[in-house]
Amino acid sequence: MGIGFIDLQAQYRAYKDEIDRAIQGVLDSSAYIMGPEVSALESELSTFVGVEHSIGCSSGTSALELVLRALGIKEGDEVITTPFTFFATAEMISIVGAKPVFVDIEPDTYNIDTSKIKEKITPKTKAIMAVSIFGQMPDIDNIANIAKEHGIKSIEDGAQSFGATLRGRKSCSIAEISTTSFFPAKPLGGYGDGGAIFTNDKELEDRCRVLLNHGQNQRYKHSLIGINGRLDAIQAAILRVKLKHFPEEIAKREEIAKRYDENLKNVVIPKIATDRTSVYAQYTLLVENREEFIKAASEKGIPTAIHYPIPLYRQEAYKFLNENPNEYDVCEEVSSKVVSIPFSPFLSIEDQEYIIESINSIS
Ligand SMILES: *Cc1c(COP(=O)(O)O)cnc(C)c1O
Repeated sequence: MGIGFIDLQAQYRAYKDEIDRAIQGVLDSSAYIMGPEVSALESELSTFVGVEHSIGCSSGTSALELVLRALGIKEGDEVITTPFTFFATAEMISIVGAKPVFVDIEPDTYNIDTSKIKEKITPKTKAIMAVSIFGQMPDIDNIANIAKEHGIKSIEDGAQSFGATLRGRKSCSIAEISTTSFFPAKPLGGYGDGGAIFTNDKELEDRCRVLLNHGQNQRYKHSLIGINGRLDAIQAAILRVKLKHFPEEIAKREEIAKRYDENLKNVVIPKIATDRTSVYAQYTLLVENREEFIKAASEKGIPTAIHYPIPLYRQEAYKFLNENPNEYDVCEEVSSKVVSIPFSPFLSIEDQEYIIESINSIS
């Protein structure tokens, strides 16, 4: 077997007994929707992140939609975000009827350029949705302060940064409300779709809980128009096992990233700010001739992926925004050069060394 981009098999083998038992427990209880596994996971997530309220959701995407709806963001509103992210970030802003307003990214971290946010705030701006790209937060503290000064909301899309820190505080604990994703390939992944919302605001929590269950405040009494955004009990049971092992996995991620950082030559990597830690949702390089690099890597049996080749303002679905790519110089350059290499806490030392040696020979 060759090297995988992410080794989900090795992770399952490592926790197999515990995971099989957790799944069997849900089957034996027949409590498939909500119930004790979901509540237990929520309380463990709150402890891990350091927030008062955690809400399990059906995906990172539904978590974003629920948060925007809970904040009352709607048609005619604007939400500031980054164009260098997975599509869902802006897609959910659009789904609730609002307009995504993009701000270029920083050349060293690829996160939203905080210094350029203020100039994009208008009377229609209702929130800033910051994304923590590749596992590292932008300065969410600063972004939350900018939001407060302007009487708008701060949201962290922490789908890639669960477990990362900013000045000792965890991702998803700093903005007014935050979301993450438990998609299998994310730092904390389930075995299917899943996500969560985090906040210290009880009223917002209540609104999210009502919205994620068809707007029901009591059985068959619907106070709001909501969605089915519930987390599966089986996913919750699996995630409880994985959350227990997650701190060790984060340490392994840091160790492997350090080995890559120190040994890869001739490539540019995003800078991790000194007051932050990353969970390396991706280990990404900037290469001058991407097509050739990918071909040469593939010939050596090294799979690669591009996160993300097309900035959101260039997506066909956003043609109607009539954006001018020249306004996003950094995003234009970064999206044309990024390439991610195999990375997972279960990557063997031999594979890491083979990857380093091969990449150094082609870059
Ligand atoms: C993965 C991802 C999402 C969507 O999460 P799903 O669980 O796949 O719906 C949203 N935002 C970002 C930044 C992501 O990386």
